[in-house]
Amino acid sequence: MFNFMHNMTSYEDTFKDFTWKSVEEELGYKPGDFINIGDYCTDRNCRLGRAEKKALIWQDHHGNVKNYTFDDLRVLTNSIAQYLKSLGVKSGDRVCLFMDKVPELYLGFLGILKLGAIAQPLYSAFGSESLFTRLDDAKTTAIITQKKHVPKIRTILKDMDYLKYVIVVDETDPTHSKDKEYIFNLDTCKRVESFDIFPSTAETPSVLHYTSGTTGKPKGAQHVHYSVISQYITTKYSLDVKEDDIYWCTADPGWVTGTSYGIIGPWANGITQCVLDSGFTADNWYSFIEKHKITIWYSAPTAIRALMKEGEETIKKHDMSSLRYLASIGEPLNAEAVLWSDKVFGMKFHDTFWQTETGSMVVSNYPCMKVKPGSMGKPFPGMEVGLVDIKTHKPFDKKGVVGIIAIKPGWPAMFRTYWNNKETYDKKFENGWYLCGDRASIDEDGYYWFVGRDDDVINTAGHLVGPFEIESALLEHPAVAESAAVGKPDPMNMEVVKAFVALKKGSEPSKMLELEIMNFIRKKLSPLAMPQEVEFVESLPKTRSGKIMRRVLKAKEWGQEIGDISTLENDM
Ligand code: ATP
Ligand code: MG
Repeated sequence: MFNFMHNMTSYEDTFKDFTWKSVEEELGYKPGDFINIGDYCTDRNCRLGRAEKKALIWQDHHGNVKNYTFDDLRVLTNSIAQYLKSLGVKSGDRVCLFMDKVPELYLGFLGILKLGAIAQPLYSAFGSESLFTRLDDAKTTAIITQKKHVPKIRTILKDMDYLKYVIVVDETDPTHSKDKEYIFNLDTCKRVESFDIFPSTAETPSVLHYTSGTTGKPKGAQHVHYSVISQYITTKYSLDVKEDDIYWCTADPGWVTGTSYGIIGPWANGITQCVLDSGFTADNWYSFIEKHKITIWYSAPTAIRALMKEGEETIKKHDMSSLRYLASIGEPLNAEAVLWSDKVFGMKFHDTFWQTETGSMVVSNYPCMKVKPGSMGKPFPGMEVGLVDIKTHKPFDKKGVVGIIAIKPGWPAMFRTYWNNKETYDKKFENGWYLCGDRASIDEDGYYWFVGRDDDVINTAGHLVGPFEIESALLEHPAVAESAAVGKPDPMNMEVVKAFVALKKGSEPSKMLELEIMNFIRKKLSPLAMPQEVEFVESLPKTRSGKIMRRVLKAKEWGQEIGDISTLENDM
């Protein structure tokens, strides 16, 4: 593909010339103006002539498909906003979305924002306890949910005086009446042609997103409507969306990727999005891409590794020729995965790095830029990103030296606080920088190379080793599907490396295989990074957003309390 076809044609030129003001002008926004994410994703598209364009192509696990145009989105989000208002929900109230990936989740999110309330999306797979912690932290006023999830709410309802409305979107029995429960049906609701959108401005709170809980208790990152400026332009430049694209972000909106790039960014660009409300199998996913002729696919390393594990035969059964751009988020993307996608899809996955707190991409690979497999790419134009010293937290500029990724505050999508936790928020800033808590180095060409999270770095005999290089080396072995490297206590060296390995189908754990793997990685790693032990496991503990929870494995090695595991996806 030629560079002139991309939205960003030269990274260097864009970086040099970029201003947030120019993005504001492109969107027709001036400081102090009305700005509402609900409006940007729906009404604004209709004003721009996209009323009849498909906005959402939704498919369930039976293969049933529903389509919504931007005008449907406009009217139905009005209906939801109007309904919430009629109940008594007010601007600033927290409204939780607790649903599978049904259309009501996507439209509900925007309806809440149109009303000026704060959207609080949570994974529908959460149990009562995980749900309660987050509702109680936010003192949530209303929850929009499906019938099948209501029992989990009922068990905690008595402990939540603040929760006034449990709105069920698929209750078919109109006589149904239970404490605080209300019925709202998107298919039969009154279509509200016009709704007075809340007069929100840049700093009006929009979304309350809980972090993935990979390193500890999840924190509620609070965002504002102005974030759409970042989400719009990063989607345009990093994901390269164009008017005719069919875009699929695989993330659940319970995770920030599913809102910033599964709702806001693409719809602020007026792009057709697909949603698959069904469990993962490689065959399902490829069929979905084939059926809807998806052109841009934004996914996560865990999913990519699962596809690699499945092998190429499944891909060959499908026509993947519609794809033109692939991107990844959430965890370090191993070089092996990038090379694999190049081989099987004829294009590389482009890694992007960002956090719930940053609200939008921070470092990414751009379509106009050469991909160095294993690198996260370069900072987004308009964002001042750099490294600070691990101990002093002072910025430095030496190539190849590991530091903590830091950003100068001021980009539009930055979180404005942690809900109820200003103290932790304040601790994230030092010497005028926001500290991400992730370690990386920068090479001669300005590319960022991820090393590990602060908490995951292994200190062996005074040397700091990042789990990423060890896990990447392990992944190159043909029998390894996934791995996690953690520090285990050692009387001599303080910590030594222990690797947990999940094998691909057809490989069985054995002493022989362990030795073979050890020999294989010995050639790739420094002696300090070499695991002293490999333990074979069926699967690795992961968050619902697919992140490996190394702290869970580490706590076991150290005989410590495991801590908050409310986001744990699988039983180990
Ligand atoms: P918690 O803050 O609750 O521990 P979390 O940090 O996993 O959870 P998220 O905000 O969902 O919650 O994830 C952001 C983190 O994910 C980053 O700080 C980084 O550690 C990791 N991450 C995201 N993208 C990448 C990437 N491309 N490469 C490496 N790490 C990534
Ligand atoms: Mg985090």
